[in-house]
Amino acid sequence: MTAYLELSQKELQRRADEAYEIYKSCRVCPHACDVNRIEGETGFCGQIDSLHISSSVKHFGEEPPLVGCKGVGNLFVTACNMRCDYCQNYQISQEWNKENPKNNSQESYEQAADAMLSLQAQGVHFIGWVSPSHVVPGLLKSLTLARAKGLKLPIIYNSNSYDAIGTLKLLDGIVDIYLPDLKYAHPEVAREFSHIKSYPEISRQAVLEMFRQVGPLKINEQGLAEKGVLVRHLVLPDQLNSTWETLCFVALEMSSSVPLSLMSQYQPVHKAASSLNRRITMEEYEQAITWAKELGIETLFLQSLESKVHNLPDFNSPDDPFPLDRVRNLSNV
Ligand code: SF4
Repeated sequence: MTAYLELSQKELQRRADEAYEIYKSCRVCPHACDVNRIEGETGFCGQIDSLHISSSVKHFGEEPPLVGCKGVGNLFVTACNMRCDYCQNYQISQEWNKENPKNNSQESYEQAADAMLSLQAQGVHFIGWVSPSHVVPGLLKSLTLARAKGLKLPIIYNSNSYDAIGTLKLLDGIVDIYLPDLKYAHPEVAREFSHIKSYPEISRQAVLEMFRQVGPLKINEQGLAEKGVLVRHLVLPDQLNSTWETLCFVALEMSSSVPLSLMSQYQPVHKAASSLNRRITMEEYEQAITWAKELGIETLFLQSLESKVHNLPDFNSPDDPFPLDRVRNLSNV
């Protein structure tokens, strides 16, 4: 049963309204900018209260339990609360139109609701919110509208883990599946490559809150995700110490029953620093896999290192930004 369908429409609306209040002195994400987004002020993410979706597509590039045979319906949110120099989605996360006209916010929520309903009509298994951390109130407004019009699909919250605990608590009982990417284990590395502070501490608290809400990801007999957390970790060149500490955190401070997706897809794009100016080696990836197995992580999802399957998205084609991802590039061992 989809989590939010167990809440009354009134409760869903109440959560959305409570979340929207946070925009008045924005602390939606850990930056806590204290700007009034309803009045058009902007903070680190550059977004006001209207909800901008760069692309809404049926997607087959996620882990097999999230893709099934019908795909996930992803809403790629515009802008981001991190500034990763190597972001493969930089066209929509960092190079979106900064003029940010004062769109009618209600209209933008209705558009996002319609996008979710359209994806449901296309037969996808789930609705994925991609990079949602800075726009949760808008997404909750949209979900409330979409549910009233018949949305029934479970929500996947696909974030960079730089999430505020207070915002995550508003999602308790609404999100079925959390898909956090745990990136760095050292704050100075996060500051250098993603221009944010206190990433390890904040992201770990966030992932523990997600885990408290839904536990480890459960996969049904058909191989489809039901509910829980699946942690992702992107292996970076020359950053294996960060990988080791992240794997230890997942196995020892969460649970070895939490499925882990070890991603090898890093490519030096956008403004990648010279120290990140190469793909990872087979040796680095195999070391990460060995550690994950030694730590007893029960379910691992791995990627091929073949470059052909890691096509970079092109959001200049918002209707089809991942043409090669019709071929699944993740498998479990
Ligand atoms: S959501 Fe945006 S404005 Fe709000 S605290 Fe985060 S970065 Fe700042």
